[in-house]
Amino acid sequence: MNKITVKTPIVEIDGDEMTRVMWQMVKDLLLLPYLTMDLVYYDLQLKKRDETDDKITLEAAEAIKKYGVGVKCATITPNKDRVKEYNLKKEWSSPNGTIRAALDGTVFRAPILVKNVLPAVRSWKKPIHIGRHAYGDVYKNCEYRVPEAGKAELVFSNIDGKELWRGTIQDFKGPGIIQGIHNTDKSIASFAKACFTYAYDQKLHVWFGAKDTISKTYDGQFKKIFEQEYQTNWKAKFEEAKLDYFFTLIDDAVARVMKTEGGLLWACKNYDGDVMSDMLGSAYGSLAMMTSVLVSPQGFYEFEASHGTVQKHYYKYLKGEKVSSNSMALIFAWSGCLRKRGEIDKTPEVVEFAKKLEEAALETVESGIMTGDLMLVATPNPKNRQVYTEEFIAEVAKRLRTKLE
Ligand code: NAP
Ligand code: MG
Repeated sequence: MNKITVKTPIVEIDGDEMTRVMWQMVKDLLLLPYLTMDLVYYDLQLKKRDETDDKITLEAAEAIKKYGVGVKCATITPNKDRVKEYNLKKEWSSPNGTIRAALDGTVFRAPILVKNVLPAVRSWKKPIHIGRHAYGDVYKNCEYRVPEAGKAELVFSNIDGKELWRGTIQDFKGPGIIQGIHNTDKSIASFAKACFTYAYDQKLHVWFGAKDTISKTYDGQFKKIFEQEYQTNWKAKFEEAKLDYFFTLIDDAVARVMKTEGGLLWACKNYDGDVMSDMLGSAYGSLAMMTSVLVSPQGFYEFEASHGTVQKHYYKYLKGEKVSSNSMALIFAWSGCLRKRGEIDKTPEVVEFAKKLEEAALETVESGIMTGDLMLVATPNPKNRQVYTEEFIAEVAKRLRTKLE
């Protein structure tokens, strides 16, 4: 079989634990036998980030800016336990947060739908996509443990050092906590633009929820910028395409999402998007059935799975136990990346490969061969068979080979 050539290098960002194990299997069984590609490799496993004082994470982000398209494995965001477990110099920040801040992107997530896994929410007939603002708020915070009684203030001085504003956060009577967060007009505007562009492209309605009744200035600014972007650049196009833009309070949006039939892009502030995408992923079947792509305003793309490193399964794997972790989202991260690379390079054979890879993965699950997470939620069928991680990937490989021959 002739291999398909990917014209431009792809930035490959490796990660940790069970996803690292699956990453290698996906490459060995589903990609390398069929593709000739130049992979610009960054190993972001925790130990490597520690060794390089996390410089490697910034280098990986720069590489995505250079080559345009990257694909990333899940990585550990260290906490106190991880510092001990891996004997780290410090609690390094989230690599995803670092990369997102460098690219100032919006993360779009969409469920991977299969016929034999029905959504937990009866009314959902079409996918609900999430657009998560990937810059700022609590992910780039400044926080402090207040040790004793005292006054906390918020102060802003301009670049000449002139104090423009000062407000009291709290007069503490005893110990407590404070946190400072920010966002910028520029980042919110590119978030809004990215959401309308994505939704128009995919023919989806746009919903945006925030808490502007409580946070009149902060969330109010998000609402204002979205409205401006819509009125200026999208209203006419959306009306012509029979698409709506709908702003509502975040809690109202959550309630309404449960009653909608789907077919919409739910634009979420950073934290809402973090939480809601896991809720959607799990309601559509499993965290492993959710794709994720970071799109920067300059047109750089980073594809990943939306789940983490599946730590619990990895510890079992290390003990030599067979595990049944689901590689669907990782496979779709690679197919998404290859499709985008092929579109930009104008190499339809690469786009076609991505399509066949996805079909092979979907058909495997629809034929009843699935990992444990899906067995729990799939429509009962005597044909359903739970397989281990490597068996699942081998089954996908079998179908992919037939399609390519
Ligand atoms: P997680 O890795 O997403 O896993 C949470 C649970 O969801 C698993 O224990 C498993 O449930 C289920 N699950 C997730 N992915 C699965 C898959 N592919 N196949 C089957 N089941 C799957 O989240 P976590 O355990 O909270 O986090 C572990 C590490 O990942 C942390 O160190 C965190 O920092 C990191 N993380 C990284 C990213 C990223 O890089 N994008 C995102 C989130 C978290 P059962 O145990 O019930 O089977
Ligand atoms: Mg999350």
